Amino acid sequence: MRFPIGLSTSLAAYIIKSRIAHERYVPLVLMLEPLFACNLTCSTCGRIREYKDHVSEMMSLEECLHAADECPAPIVSICGGEPLIYPDIPELVESLIAMHKFVYLCTNGIRLAGTIDKLRPSRRLQINVHIDGPPEVHDIVVEKNGAYEEAFKGIITAKRRGFMVTVNTTVCKQTNMNQIDVLMGILAQAGVSNFMLSPAYSYETIESKDCFMDREGVHDKFKDIDSIASRHRLADTPIYLEYLKGQRELQCTAWGNPTRNVVGWRSPCYLIADRHFSTYKDLIEETDWSSYGVGRDPRCKDCMVHCGFEPTAALMTNKQPGDLWKMIRWQLSI
Ligand code: SF4
Repeated sequence: MRFPIGLSTSLAAYIIKSRIAHERYVPLVLMLEPLFACNLTCSTCGRIREYKDHVSEMMSLEECLHAADECPAPIVSICGGEPLIYPDIPELVESLIAMHKFVYLCTNGIRLAGTIDKLRPSRRLQINVHIDGPPEVHDIVVEKNGAYEEAFKGIITAKRRGFMVTVNTTVCKQTNMNQIDVLMGILAQAGVSNFMLSPAYSYETIESKDCFMDREGVHDKFKDIDSIASRHRLADTPIYLEYLKGQRELQCTAWGNPTRNVVGWRSPCYLIADRHFSTYKDLIEETDWSSYGVGRDPRCKDCMVHCGFEPTAALMTNKQPGDLWKMIRWQLSI
């Protein structure tokens, strides 16, 4: 996950401080889901299915801010559900910025053009729009005609108002990477500053598994990613991309991206929910982290999701010679 250079310096300082303090668990990104309600029914989304009994509930503004206070992660990714439906979204974003958090506001873009004037641009705020391909592909994945056009209009409006905008793309078995390459060129011209790619998450709650890839499928899909990375600013770290290409192994560090939602602190990760805890402290202390990850839990077998493995890359948990230089060069290329 890439921020402008000044903010990345803060992140590096936070990691170094945690290392000096010998912190065992260093959260980088809090995934905050104030609600599960959404204005789309994307075929790859587990949330609207898994938590269907909770779609009418929301976290209060106070609960959201308390979660950000409990968890020291410097970045808060507001997701869901569709965060632009959340009635207190302007206050939530402003309050998190006042707490010196960096905020990723994730949205499907449908409401972006109509909501953006309620928000204020900040060097601590990135609007992260989810687009899964060119118009004809994106509209099928999210099951709504015109969804791409709405999201694109939102991006243009947000850029005109002075916001930083990034785009997040879920890569499925059917994704044509050449189309993604072309799409990135179009979106970069519209002012999108960088792009995050992630293999489709395989939730147990999604009945049709047609879009998910096994490990070999991911390696094959990302085999030419260096060529795309040479033309576009990718938010994925080079170490994570090596993992997707099958050039190295990484351990899961799901505690690096804890998730707090309407039900509680989700354990162990964004994909698996074995338990929910009422406090961040309980999540960290009572989850048996050593029982999860590839080779430990069969559900983790093909997992290469960014929220499980990008913290590993950023924290250099599986450091190899040259990694630090790769990360610095990648950061400076923004
Ligand atoms: S490997 Fe993936 S599914 Fe398993 S705990 Fe880590 S992030 Fe979750």
